[in-house]
Amino acid sequence: MNVILLAPPAAGKGTQAKILSNKYALAHLSTGELLREAAKKPTALGKELSTLLGTGCLVEDEIVFEVLEERMKSEDCKKGFVLDGFPRNLSQAKALERILQEINKTIDYVFLLDTEKEILKKRITGRRLCEHCGQIYNINDLSSKPKEDSICDNCHHELTIRTDDTEEVYERRYKEYLEKTEPLISYYRESHTLHSIDCNQSIENITKGIDEILRKRDDLND
Ligand code: AMP
Repeated sequence: MNVILLAPPAAGKGTQAKILSNKYALAHLSTGELLREAAKKPTALGKELSTLLGTGCLVEDEIVFEVLEERMKSEDCKKGFVLDGFPRNLSQAKALERILQEINKTIDYVFLLDTEKEILKKRITGRRLCEHCGQIYNINDLSSKPKEDSICDNCHHELTIRTDDTEEVYERRYKEYLEKTEPLISYYRESHTLHSIDCNQSIENITKGIDEILRKRDDLND
């Protein structure tokens, strides 16, 4: 099973991707995470990325393809994957189709997690990330608050704040979403793979909504 999570920034796609990945043994492919990792490297590309990621603008397609294609070659992608943050525009969606055709795979589900912009914007300042185990928290949300504000419940490493998680950068990220990513909604609606889930609810209820749709599928345990 191959799944795409489509969502405006701060809708919780990273959290749901992680849950889906654990539950259904799917590889979690987050282009944001791959790019943040690449940005830490002491290379010219690393430097360029670390500046770019702080602005909230989308990264050039070629760079994204490079990090993603590398990751897609891994053994764990064979059973299926959850794409978190990719595709982000029409040309990425078309490139993905070409790549999948070559390896005889298809996209089975596209979940759109969405709610009002102002609700999402409020979430952004509370988001905390454990760079060690990848767990995402929100100190303003009871259902995803860590026990201690700056420490990961799982591995006890210090939590960090993403440089692009500010209200100011959020405006740019949301603009990018509306201009470039939102057109993918009608694109995937036409191919009948799109399912909308209201993300203004608890993490558990969002997962429940996704599960209800997946449960209708009979080959989940293949
Ligand atoms: P995310 O972790 O998905 O919120 O992504 C963080 C940032 O990484 C975005 O604001 C973009 O700058 C960049 N990024 C992630 N995925 C893509 C993509 N598919 N295409 C272009 N830029 C991306």
